[in-house]
Amino acid sequence: MIVIKFGGTSVGDAQRVANAIDIVAERREQQPIVVVSALSGVTNDLVAASEAARACDADRVNQIIAAVRQRHEDVAMRLVQQKFDFFESFIKQLDKQIDQIHTILSGIALLGEITPRAKDKVVAIGEKLSSVLFAYSMMMRALPGEHVDSEEVVITDARFGEASPLMEDTREAAHRVLLPLIERNRVPVMGGFIGRTRDGATTTLGRGGSDYSAAIIGAAVGAEEIQIWTDVDGMMTCDPRHILTARIIERISYVEAAELAWFGAKVLHPRTIAPAVAQKIAVRVLNTHNISSPGTLITEEGDTNAPAGPRAVAVKRNITVVHMTSNKMLGAHGFLARLFAIFEEFEVSVDLITTSEVSVSVTIDEDNPQLLEKLKTVADVQVIRNQCIVAIVGRNLMQDSIVGARVFEAMRGIPTSMFSLGTSGLNLSIVVDDKDADRSVRAVHAALFEAPVGAAS
Ligand code: ADP
Ligand code: ASP
Ligand code: MG
Repeated sequence: MIVIKFGGTSVGDAQRVANAIDIVAERREQQPIVVVSALSGVTNDLVAASEAARACDADRVNQIIAAVRQRHEDVAMRLVQQKFDFFESFIKQLDKQIDQIHTILSGIALLGEITPRAKDKVVAIGEKLSSVLFAYSMMMRALPGEHVDSEEVVITDARFGEASPLMEDTREAAHRVLLPLIERNRVPVMGGFIGRTRDGATTTLGRGGSDYSAAIIGAAVGAEEIQIWTDVDGMMTCDPRHILTARIIERISYVEAAELAWFGAKVLHPRTIAPAVAQKIAVRVLNTHNISSPGTLITEEGDTNAPAGPRAVAVKRNITVVHMTSNKMLGAHGFLARLFAIFEEFEVSVDLITTSEVSVSVTIDEDNPQLLEKLKTVADVQVIRNQCIVAIVGRNLMQDSIVGARVFEAMRGIPTSMFSLGTSGLNLSIVVDDKDADRSVRAVHAALFEAPVGAAS
């Protein structure tokens, strides 16, 4: 069994859906389970419609939802046109979902408030529609695609907007629902990104979460491989959209890939790797627009031939630095414990940390005014917003100090507020102002991946 996941751009229009179906058809003997994202841009549209509903802007709501509906109808028309009954039944399902969106959006408008629970119900509809469309399109081509409602399989906690799977329940459901289909040579087609709580409420796994769904489903059925089909050739030394000289990474370890994803390499949702690691399932990142490219293979051991050193640079934007100084000055034991108890209380996780005897600086993703207020009860607190983390990820990064030398040299003239070298040698991170993000990444990438060997100083 393998899981094949297609991102939004890979199912963005009728031609792309047709190409994606070719990819599935070629892998029939491997017993695929297909996971699809919403058509590209649809989740953003649904988020925008929720915001418009909260603002009681009925015209804008109607305009966005009508466009979403039309887009699905157009794609369906091109893909399932000849067989009238498939088309009719897709349109029936489409209209049912659209009615449901309108009902929830009216509720949001009435209350003037979006609860995370209502928002999940609305945004989940993108994947519900794309997966039904994909399954019908497969049937049109006489391929045994069978739509499976992800909510029947991916069972999660109730953290709406950022839910986590309950793996035991999910494994049981996946075995019960998916395995009999596979045994009958059917190809289950599911929406990514969505799940359901034990008591039946729709949840989502966080933006970009279809990768995570693929990994959860792969782990639940014990797949041999999880394939993430996207719009670039694989994981690269940097985001190829910003750095044209970015190079493909053929093999990389779970820990390196997870670290890159965590520090902003959008090609993988940050939580994708964890379910694969538990069962040592290989993850492959492949390009739907360039099928012959070998992509990136992510495994426990990674590239055993690669020397220690940097593998890639990522950037995590829009973070906040919190600088805390003990107001008791030197030697105040228990200071860190008190601070971190507060982070724990507010369930805020910290990415980077640097310390001196009397002060500690951390980075956090979200600005949390209550957290900051509480921290002020035990420390003098300085907050620096609009920062970003430039993360250099690799193996035994500082085995050769030339890496550090090159990075420091590349960053000359760019103000930095934190440096942090992970004890594992996996990550060297630098915090800079958001406005310096691009030039920092360019400089570091050029120094580490474009400079001739031995040309550091
Ligand atoms: P999908 O819709 O298929 O999930 P995403 O847009 O979420 O696709 O992720 C693919 C994008 O990730 C690429 O188009 C690329 O711009 C971006 N990206 C960021 N960092 C990297 C990296 N290190 N390697 C490859 N792609 C990256
Ligand atoms: N459609 C969702 C999003 O845009 C999930 C995904 O694409 O992975 O965030
Ligand atoms: Mg994605």
